[in-house]
Amino acid sequence: MTGEDSKGPIGGLFKDDGTGPRDFVQVAVERGVDRYPDGLTYSVPPAFADVREGDRVTVPLGRGNATVDGYVVQRGGVEVLGSLDPARTKPLSGRDDAAMPLPSQLLALGRWISAYYGAPIGVTLGSMVPSAVRKRVGTVVRRSWTIVPGAVRDGRFSTQQRALLECLDSVAGELDESELLERSGVATKEPLRGLARRGLVRAVERTEVHAKWADAAVGSLAVPTLTDEQRAAVEAVSASAEHGFSQHLLFGVTGSGKTEVYLQLIERTLARGKSAVLLVPEIALTPQTSGRVMARLAAHRVLVLHSGLTAAQRNEQWGLAAQRGPCVVVGARSAVFAPIPDGDLGLVIVDEEHDTGYKQDQQPRYHGRDTAIRRAQLAGCPILLGSATPSLETWWNATERGTVVLHRLTRRAPGLRTPRVELVDFRVEQRAWSDRRVHLIGPTLERALRRTLDEGGQAIILLNRRGYANSIVCAAKDCDWCMKCDRCDAGMVAHRDSRLPKGGFVRCHHCLSELRLPERCPVCRGPISIFGLGTQRVEEELERTFPDLPPGALARVDSDTTQTAAHFHDVLGRFGRGEVRILLGTQMIAKGLDFPNVRVVGVISADTALNLPDFRATERTYQLVSQVAGRCGRGDAAGLAIVQTFQPDAPAIQWAARQDFEAFAASELEARASFGLPPAKRLARIVLRDADHDRALAAGRTVAARLLALPTASGVLIRPAADCPIARINDRFRVQVELLAPTAAALQQLIAAGRSSGAIVPSDQLAVDVDPVALL
Ligand code: ADP
Ligand code: ZN
Ligand code: ZN
Repeated sequence: MTGEDSKGPIGGLFKDDGTGPRDFVQVAVERGVDRYPDGLTYSVPPAFADVREGDRVTVPLGRGNATVDGYVVQRGGVEVLGSLDPARTKPLSGRDDAAMPLPSQLLALGRWISAYYGAPIGVTLGSMVPSAVRKRVGTVVRRSWTIVPGAVRDGRFSTQQRALLECLDSVAGELDESELLERSGVATKEPLRGLARRGLVRAVERTEVHAKWADAAVGSLAVPTLTDEQRAAVEAVSASAEHGFSQHLLFGVTGSGKTEVYLQLIERTLARGKSAVLLVPEIALTPQTSGRVMARLAAHRVLVLHSGLTAAQRNEQWGLAAQRGPCVVVGARSAVFAPIPDGDLGLVIVDEEHDTGYKQDQQPRYHGRDTAIRRAQLAGCPILLGSATPSLETWWNATERGTVVLHRLTRRAPGLRTPRVELVDFRVEQRAWSDRRVHLIGPTLERALRRTLDEGGQAIILLNRRGYANSIVCAAKDCDWCMKCDRCDAGMVAHRDSRLPKGGFVRCHHCLSELRLPERCPVCRGPISIFGLGTQRVEEELERTFPDLPPGALARVDSDTTQTAAHFHDVLGRFGRGEVRILLGTQMIAKGLDFPNVRVVGVISADTALNLPDFRATERTYQLVSQVAGRCGRGDAAGLAIVQTFQPDAPAIQWAARQDFEAFAASELEARASFGLPPAKRLARIVLRDADHDRALAAGRTVAARLLALPTASGVLIRPAADCPIARINDRFRVQVELLAPTAAALQQLIAAGRSSGAIVPSDQLAVDVDPVALL
């Protein structure tokens, strides 16, 4: 609120004649209006005199006074008006009394997200509360009846009414409506309503959420004795809880017992009467982690929140989290918004904190890890980030800036062995084949798989790419046709489907459009050939190489087969029981899974991420190879990770094979600093989209120029508008303006100034992405 308009007649309107509205609220409405930073102003009519911050209300919007929903973000007197005319503010039109008000810490978190990530406050608050909660899915009203004490029973009663009164007299308190009717042999509700109208009986209504859950096998798990390193971490984090907010990094290779540290810290938090939130990166991971947490903490209230829940389940869990009393919430990114009441949150944990799945890719584009840090800060409690391959941002904070306390787990947990990592030079391996077929499983990996299968072990095979093949080209020598998506500047990916006439189809992984696999080249009518790698092709090759594998012993999971969390859960169950011997998949199987009988992990190609046009490509490659290597050696047998690569000398791959994160991080941080990239600098990206390329570019140039003219732009590098690496998606051209600032505060100030001045107006054509994790 600026108050710039000092020459206006506002002073005169403040004249207090006692008739105009005196109470006002700022409302964040969910329709996409960005009235930065506070929302829209309304007056409070007497009927809603007790409206409070965090309440869900309805307000009239625009000329037509359409009714829209929103949250009250601020309440106050004329001071909230700024330069607005109090006589012309519209009044609130309604309040949703059944909706749960947002706890003030969540409201504060929403304001921070809106400011930091450049998202409209209404959209932000709206997206924090699941729609299942707003729509109250699965809510049932239970009505019971009770006698009104001391009411005089004069006048006449029907037989049915006498039966009802008799029945209610015989119970001390309330009786459920259907039971009351049944016991008194009354078929309709009218006699009961008659009694209620005469003030003799009273209905008591309760809303309950009823969600159906599949029965989970919940056993109790033994509590191991902590190693010295684990104990030191547990002691340090719990001691810090007395001093309010602090940040901790638990850095330990996979299998070093991080989850055990989380569990014991959660138990201590619950014992202090406080609640804990444990974030895990993907739904796919939640079954195992939440299963383990549930089993260990079975005596406590364990709630889960992730996208694999039914709407009713989500509504139920959300409501339970809002109740007072200690609980632990386990969930994916959005569980950071669990409505734990103010004052109850005692610990936040983010597992696999480096995972890019924590970044939301639509508005508000918040990072779950950084939002969790903010939430812990608002709650005044410690936050523990855990990873075997910390993000360079967190590593930088722990080692260079010292804002994060570093706890190391240097050894694998007792009973686990360190897997051996073998780099396989695929250029050499390829010489083994004389046929012209594409081979993806080299002789070294094949031998290791065969041995493992013979010995009764299991294997995991990772390929970072879905589908069958990623380029469809003309095989004729003098033709360079290559199948591109019509609507995106990207190639189509071939997928096999034996039910289709040509045995397959092609899909664009950006706009998801699908076409038949062409029979011939549309340019020269020559034959088509398909190149490249995909999980489906690996699956075929495994079937060919190991024809004796019984049906069902090979399973593939990627986002094409894993339509539902339930399916993934099912495959994991079969893998856990040993029915599946080889599990093949994309990166979703690279982390978090814990199966003792896995002896071999194969990485089909460590290079798939290395050559992406993204400054984090090296970091991703390191993470991938290193995480996957941690998947084996969990049981009695020593593990072997076989990493196939065309670039065995690439430093990231070398360091990952040696599991030397610190050496990798030191060199990568130096490189990032020298190029002025995160984490040394803070990056934001503004993406402009338009069906017309020139218009998109012009819009980008305008944004860049207007930002450059702002005083807060000094010290921030504003790169000229340029095409995005994928310059067109879904028939819209994409132009980006990158901002690189020395600090988060400088970046935030520039974006805030950009929004207040109208240079940045988030919309369908303009998206702001602060701290982006992908730059395509
Ligand atoms: P991480 O989360 O770092 O991958 P986990 O906590 O899953 O590691 O531990 C790996 C395995 O070692 C698990 O099966 C766990 O039960 C076991 N484990 C962890 N800590 C100990 C310990 N102190 N003593 C014995 N076993 C342990
Ligand atoms: Zn497309
Ligand atoms: Zn051709």
